[in-house]
Amino acid sequence: MLKNWKSFFASTLALGTILAPSSIYAQTPTEVPSGAYLPPQGKQALTHMKTTAPIRAQAGKRHGIRGPINPNYKMNVSYDSNQHIIKGKLSVTFINNIENPLHEIYFNLWGNDAGFRENGGGMDVRNVKVNGQATSFQIKETALHIPRVKLPQRKKSTVSMDFTVHVPKGQDRFGWDGQIVSLGNWFPILAVYDDEGWNVDPYFPYGESFYSLTGNFDVSVTTDKQQVIAATGTEIGRPIIKGDLATHRYIAKNVRDFAMEMNPNYKVISSTVNHVKVNVYYAEEHAKFSQDLLQSGVDSIQLFSEKFGAYPWPELDVVSMRGWFGGMEYPQLVMISLRDSATPAWVRSVNAHEIGHQWFYGIIGNNEYDEAWLDESFATYSAALYDKELDQLTAEPVPGYHLSFPVSNFTAHGEEGINAYYDMIYDYGSRTLNDLRKLLGDEQFYTSMQAYFKEKKFGITTTKDFIRIMEDTSGRDLNKFFEEHLVFVSDQE
Ligand SMILES: [Zn+2]
Repeated sequence: MLKNWKSFFASTLALGTILAPSSIYAQTPTEVPSGAYLPPQGKQALTHMKTTAPIRAQAGKRHGIRGPINPNYKMNVSYDSNQHIIKGKLSVTFINNIENPLHEIYFNLWGNDAGFRENGGGMDVRNVKVNGQATSFQIKETALHIPRVKLPQRKKSTVSMDFTVHVPKGQDRFGWDGQIVSLGNWFPILAVYDDEGWNVDPYFPYGESFYSLTGNFDVSVTTDKQQVIAATGTEIGRPIIKGDLATHRYIAKNVRDFAMEMNPNYKVISSTVNHVKVNVYYAEEHAKFSQDLLQSGVDSIQLFSEKFGAYPWPELDVVSMRGWFGGMEYPQLVMISLRDSATPAWVRSVNAHEIGHQWFYGIIGNNEYDEAWLDESFATYSAALYDKELDQLTAEPVPGYHLSFPVSNFTAHGEEGINAYYDMIYDYGSRTLNDLRKLLGDEQFYTSMQAYFKEKKFGITTTKDFIRIMEDTSGRDLNKFFEEHLVFVSDQE
């Protein structure tokens, strides 16, 4: 049986050919998997991708440390729907578990990626303070560096700043398009320090390069009172109306990011499953898919909770939008981009993929730049499980590539590498997990997955952790299995 996404992408690609004749879409119609995030302007993004060099800061190795921990974000922001500008204040309190004292801090400013700047986007910060003291800082592309600080170990510290975000024009996870505003990766977010130093890898327009630790968010958003807003977390109380403006407040716990989607034309339908409220936000043009989104949302939460471990948050928002980028996942919020030619089966499958990411990246976090397969292959497996199409996971590996390669090992090869990224990370990765299920048997495989969930819930996993937990829980030596499936711990060491 031909997967529905193939016909969907075939029609997407026809349009892509008109808009961007040499975009990779035109050349790889059957290689883009369901649920893949695709940049809306492939050609520009590819050019940009080739010119961006990683700017990872090497801070020396201290084995096993990952921090700063327990970030508590407070944000007070306003969004101007006419100018597409966010102005806000952010303060984040965290514990320095890294070194005594900590001398520098990094944030990621993903909205500064060149692809967004080309479309009117960008981010700036002012008035940076560390524990109340004004301090100097530098911004280099998507990295904000705050040097010359002295933060005591095992104590709370607070960084505060004012920030301005120009939301770019575009049908994207971060962008405005007509009356729809998508705010993914839109605020300054603490970078992670680990064995490799500070992680400030470049934005990856063909997938994700995000990496952050779980924390709590308290976010107040003021904008036009007509805006209907979907957001990570739960809205607290009723919005406060003043003139034409409304202020909404959201609280989110144990999440590693905070996203929003706004549209004054959104309608909302909801259902409840396992005490989780599922909301679908849709504009009239996508009304025909609203029940598919709601039902697949409910069914995915039920299925993945049963197989992997319980969905831990009280809500999930599924937001529909125009565009062709496929889908995108954020904690408690998934974006599904729809074209008229989308089929109900495709919509349900993409929704299942993005909801699969609630478990793989949202709950069990990973460094998406270093080990993309740890969330993407698992989300693709989850969608195939939902689709009852596990037996169709038969992809072969691409010669020369490992499943456990970092993103940079793919992007180093331009278009060929991007194609290999999709073929390996989505298709061969999900096949690998299905092969593991077949090797261990259903019962042992899902028992092991639940142990993995329990140990890594709200934490960060690595390839090494995954192999260890699978071996320990099954009592089997899986070295040969992972080697044969091109998964190597050494790729990150
Ligand atoms: Zn995905």
